[in-house]
Amino acid sequence: MAKLYDTHCHLYSEYNYDLNEIVENFKKDDIGFVINNGTNFKTNEEVLSISKKFSSIKPAIGFHPEDLDNFKEEQLDQIIQNINNIIAIGEIGLDYYYSENSKDLQKKVFEKQIQIAEKYNKPVIIHSRNAFKDTFDIVKKYNVKGSWHCFSGSLEEANKIIGLGFKLGIGGILTFKNSNLNEIISEIDLKNILLETDSPYLSPEPFRGKRNEPKNVKIILENIARIKNIDYINAAQIIENNTLETFRMN
Ligand SMILES: [Zn+2]
Repeated sequence: MAKLYDTHCHLYSEYNYDLNEIVENFKKDDIGFVINNGTNFKTNEEVLSISKKFSSIKPAIGFHPEDLDNFKEEQLDQIIQNINNIIAIGEIGLDYYYSENSKDLQKKVFEKQIQIAEKYNKPVIIHSRNAFKDTFDIVKKYNVKGSWHCFSGSLEEANKIIGLGFKLGIGGILTFKNSNLNEIISEIDLKNILLETDSPYLSPEPFRGKRNEPKNVKIILENIARIKNIDYINAAQIIENNTLETFRMN
């Protein structure tokens, strides 16, 4: 039986996860590994130190577009210095949801991180909210691949992302009543999909509003298998292959 992978979560101490317990349950929950994403210098340090203690909580570090208040350009060295220890550069991208004031800074920091990913041949984990065109225009300039995390756009956008060689990170939004993700999943090939939770956020139904947990990727996979009308075990196998390929684990 293939394993399940949470390719995007934030397991920081501020959210009071019992990491020993989570990791002890990985076997029972059929989890192979999870990817813990940093968002700023401090959470990146935490992600790195957690990964030294728990080999199945893989580190991705990066500077998130909504987390640039204390950003200094020399902090990008944190990525380069740890490049051989991380599974991906993330969470990085553009977010114009709250304010467009920092667009220029967001674009600059994002593009520099994409350049590092290209130079060191590392996968990226992309965050894009209300900023599809600008995100896409930056990514397509470079030879990079990875996960387009928390995808919730149109079918046209999904196909553009797939055309770049990226996978779509699919999480709890799939279970929300007002989401159009069902229709998109039914139109695209399973080989373009990764599972994720974005823990502690975006818990799937029936746990919406509660703290999310990596083990909830099972709920996402059950929904995907139902929408695609294929066997759960087959779906797990295909998505396992996608995951290992995207993060160069095979
Ligand atoms: Zn995230």
